[in-house]
Amino acid sequence: MANVNTGSRSRIMDTNKQNTPNFIENCLKCHATSSAEKLNECFKSFDMNKDGKLDLKEFDHFLGCLFSKNGKPYPITEKQRKIIHNLLDENKDGKIDYEEFRIIWYHWLKQILDPVTALLVVDVQNDFITGSLAIKDCPAGQDGEAIIPVINKMLDTVKFDCVVYSYDWHPPNHISFVDNVKSWKVHNSSKVPADIAKLYDTVTFDGDPIKVQKLWPAHCIQNSWGSQLHPDLKVVENACHVNKGKNPEIDSYSAFWDNNKLSQTELVSELTKRGVTDVYVCGVAYDVCVGAQGVSLGIVVGTDEPMLLISQP
Ligand SMILES: [Zn+2]
Repeated sequence: MANVNTGSRSRIMDTNKQNTPNFIENCLKCHATSSAEKLNECFKSFDMNKDGKLDLKEFDHFLGCLFSKNGKPYPITEKQRKIIHNLLDENKDGKIDYEEFRIIWYHWLKQILDPVTALLVVDVQNDFITGSLAIKDCPAGQDGEAIIPVINKMLDTVKFDCVVYSYDWHPPNHISFVDNVKSWKVHNSSKVPADIAKLYDTVTFDGDPIKVQKLWPAHCIQNSWGSQLHPDLKVVENACHVNKGKNPEIDSYSAFWDNNKLSQTELVSELTKRGVTDVYVCGVAYDVCVGAQGVSLGIVVGTDEPMLLISQP
């Protein structure tokens, strides 16, 4: 397993554990099961004088709990505190009331205190492991099967709220297959003309917009053996299964949308439906499909630093 980056959230929570055990006790380990109950617990734990509002002192405590390092709150200047307070105090009465705190909870705190996790298992399919596009035949020569026990262990030992398996899922006439290159019109800007194009060449195909496409051997053809998940991969119950690359005219390295970002798969709606806040990604082809998920995540959640965990052999 490599390149683990779970962002800053866990760091914030860990340091809070050292600094404010009551806060964690009240907000995270309370008996509340719904997000609304957790919101109530969280607000109550900071509203020390029980007047239904957070005054400046209570607000300072709140900030100190959220932003700390090695058990000590980060120093926050008066100016910084005022800026944050002003942003959150919508009615400008100088206090954070419950309604304002509710907005803070659902737009910010919930993702920190009550995350919903998804593991995205990218394209762990026969063709990428022992089939026509096996990564062991690629320059790095890595054995794709090595990732299977790593993913299985993660599925056995980490409690993800949701597991998604993505499938490269191409029709036989897919534009990425080298054998189909002459079936598609090549754009006159293409550096490689269709009549001499060969495996792994990059060709520019005509269309609106034009498509820059690397040529692969036929792989992951819908309903074929090569498109099936590797038989040793653990498939959990109630998982979500998402197909990509179904449109013959455009490739899709990402499970979120096609390479030209013209159409989304159902993945975004599935994650949204489940209230997912954190997505972890693993699979084969770190440099192509798995990497594409990270880029997509950054765009979907609007950050340059998506919560990304990448596993590779
Ligand atoms: Zn493909």
